[in-house]
Amino acid sequence: MLDADAYAVRSPDTPFEPLSIERRDPRSNDVVISILFCGVCHSDLHTARSEWGGTRYPCVPGHEIVGRVSAVGGSVTKFKEGDLVGVGCMVDSCQRCEPCREGLEQFCDNGFTGTYNGPAQETGDNTYGGYSSTIVVREEFVLAIRHPEADLAGVAPLLCAGITTWSPLRHWNAGPGKKVGVVGIGGLGHMGVKLARALGAHVVAFTTSPNKVEDAKALGAHEVVVSRNPDEMKIHSGSFDFILNTVAAPHELDPFLALLKRDGTMTLVGVPPEPHPSPSVGLLVMKRKSLAGSLIGGIPETQEMLDFCAEHGILSDIEMIRMQEIDGAYDRMARSDVKYRFVIDMASLAPAAE
Ligand code: NAP
Ligand code: ZN
Repeated sequence: MLDADAYAVRSPDTPFEPLSIERRDPRSNDVVISILFCGVCHSDLHTARSEWGGTRYPCVPGHEIVGRVSAVGGSVTKFKEGDLVGVGCMVDSCQRCEPCREGLEQFCDNGFTGTYNGPAQETGDNTYGGYSSTIVVREEFVLAIRHPEADLAGVAPLLCAGITTWSPLRHWNAGPGKKVGVVGIGGLGHMGVKLARALGAHVVAFTTSPNKVEDAKALGAHEVVVSRNPDEMKIHSGSFDFILNTVAAPHELDPFLALLKRDGTMTLVGVPPEPHPSPSVGLLVMKRKSLAGSLIGGIPETQEMLDFCAEHGILSDIEMIRMQEIDGAYDRMARSDVKYRFVIDMASLAPAAE
């Protein structure tokens, strides 16, 4: 086994603390990664605090991982020692079912293995995520990073926030001639704005935070709407081809459904712990509108997104923190006070764990 340092929570309402963990000895198809940076996703908070239920403790979150390959197993062909790589929300899947063969491992018929909160495919052990010094991942779930090394911290959030917005934007054809809304300007939403803009769509950002209006324009939004202002909302009535809703809390969906055109779609990626108020069936049936959902993205499309971002110079806007600052970062994220993703500098981990 390989010893690794990590930060974990032991229950829903206790703070993070250092934890020594073990990573498996690399199998022939494994890549050993020294973690350099890890993004902080709202899903980490939902899980650490067991807001969705089902959290296995101790819990080491983190699924926006970037680092350097420190060793590879004998049959690994895509990576070598020294390469910069990423790991997102999944570390394993059956690789045999139809979704896996189509490169949609997130929909694996046998269930994918989450980077944290497992269970691992063969052993059933709890998996531990990126708030740690080292991770061992099978080659198929490791992504190549082609950004300059100096940009690495801003690449980390692409591994979840990037792919979770890229996949639905591509699936629902966001691009030239399309009017696209992005609801909630947090970690996911700010990437949604950047990616929809880079794909050529007309982008409208919706925020509940008036102090984010100028930022949202700087991120690439052509227009910004404060969604709590009904007059501002009304201007866009019946005009959207597609709306991507990233909000992490229950809220009324009808004011956004009213903004869709005939045949328009609103896709939910935020997963609030409590249900949204039921949407109006009338609003859906009258103009054949769709309300949909989307889950992260497959490995091939994650690589496609990373390469697109490298080519277009797209990074997440980040606030770097030390590992020891994670509890305060969660509290700020819960208050929608992040610009626009916390990223942990893993160099801060070692002294704390001594
Ligand atoms: P985040 O950084 O906290 O951003 C969420 C944003 O939602 C906030 O910044 C805020 O934006 C808005 N918001 C928060 N509370 C609100 C409320 N009560 N009413 C209206 N708007 C509110 O979170 P994130 O990391 O982007 O994650 C967002 C959600 O997506 C979480 O539920 C997370 O678990 C989920 N997620 C899903 C997937 C998937 O595959 N489907 C993947 C990753 C994450 P404004 O200040 O602009 O209003
Ligand atoms: Zn995430």
